[in-house]
Amino acid sequence: MFNSLTPLPADPILGLLTAYREDPHPQKVDLGVGVYKDATGHTPILDCVKAAEQQRTDTETTKVYISPTGSAQFNQLMTELAFGQRHQALLADRIKTVSTPGGTGALRVAAEFIHHCKPNAVIWVSDPTWANHTALFEAAGLTVKTYPYYDYDSKSIKFEQMTAALKNIAKDDVVLLHACCHNPSGMDLTPAQWDEVIAITAEQGFTPLIDMAYQGFGDGIDEDAYGVRQMAAAVEELILCSSCSKNFGLYRERIGACSLMANDSVKANIALSVMLYVIRGIYSMPPAHGAALVETILDNTELRLQWQQELAVMRNRINSNRQMLVNKLLEKGVKQDFNFIARQKGMFSFLGINPSQVATLKKEHSIYMVDSSRISIAGISEGNVDYLAQSIASILR
Ligand code: PMP
Repeated sequence: MFNSLTPLPADPILGLLTAYREDPHPQKVDLGVGVYKDATGHTPILDCVKAAEQQRTDTETTKVYISPTGSAQFNQLMTELAFGQRHQALLADRIKTVSTPGGTGALRVAAEFIHHCKPNAVIWVSDPTWANHTALFEAAGLTVKTYPYYDYDSKSIKFEQMTAALKNIAKDDVVLLHACCHNPSGMDLTPAQWDEVIAITAEQGFTPLIDMAYQGFGDGIDEDAYGVRQMAAAVEELILCSSCSKNFGLYRERIGACSLMANDSVKANIALSVMLYVIRGIYSMPPAHGAALVETILDNTELRLQWQQELAVMRNRINSNRQMLVNKLLEKGVKQDFNFIARQKGMFSFLGINPSQVATLKKEHSIYMVDSSRISIAGISEGNVDYLAQSIASILR
């Protein structure tokens, strides 16, 4: 059976990470992988997570299965975090949430669920989007098409083209939107742009699927959920995929959530039964450890506050890294306008250089980024920004 196989390419970002690790250059810089790093280049475990982990070790009494939905308390707290505690759809019992293995697991559950609802549905994703979106939606049997989004020339959103495209999308289709910290462009919809997109969604009747992998990394926990909350107030149905990988720093614990919102409580329960059927056929039950940590933190006033503070430190560091790079590039005499980097949000931006310049930065300066020139902002630090800006300046001359 295996004899007919031909090798498939490995994840380009992981390949980059291996090359980076093997590079002996003392000033090497990793701008590839999208994980938060502190000023020393380390991805720390949050103190609130450490405290929750200790509590769990002391009090956990069994490892018996929970259920395909995962922990009810985690699901409730995640729903409130995303939609807001008193959202009208939540109070009307129209939202059902399940725990999933990471945001990726949530997206795959959503994709299989959509395929179950409408096997011929087209899912529209932004051009560009996170590379794994397309792969995992296609793996679930959906057809993927793109709507215009990032303008590489003006470094902003092609908003008119985007809305024109959305106005042609059919009722039975699905549109994927990034809640905040758009990956890979860092270019987010403003609240006014969200309002327009929401009005079109309500008018056209297609289903919004919102991916919120970075809540709290852009402008703040509530600010980043603006689109989710307003959309949920304006439409009948919605799917939301959340991740606790970045904002709780729980990457390898694999915890996220998938929420569905129906137009009444009865339909929400029916839809949930279908989602649970889908889940049983994939992984049966989600991992429990990360969910237990998140629910301990969110349900405890002190730990929740500590988490908000630790999240603010990560957010502020990323935002100041953005400004720091822009300032350094100016200082190095770079003529091109890089101010857009400071305007964008979250983990990523496109530097806007071509693949051969990306290759030169890697080969001659040991600076690693994906071919599209997407850089992971958390990889910049006080210690490497001078070398980084100097190297970028040298290839732009
Ligand atoms: N969606 C987007 C846009 C992402 O960037 C990521 C993580 N890179 C995910 C989903 C999935 O995150 P997780 O690690 O929780 O599976």
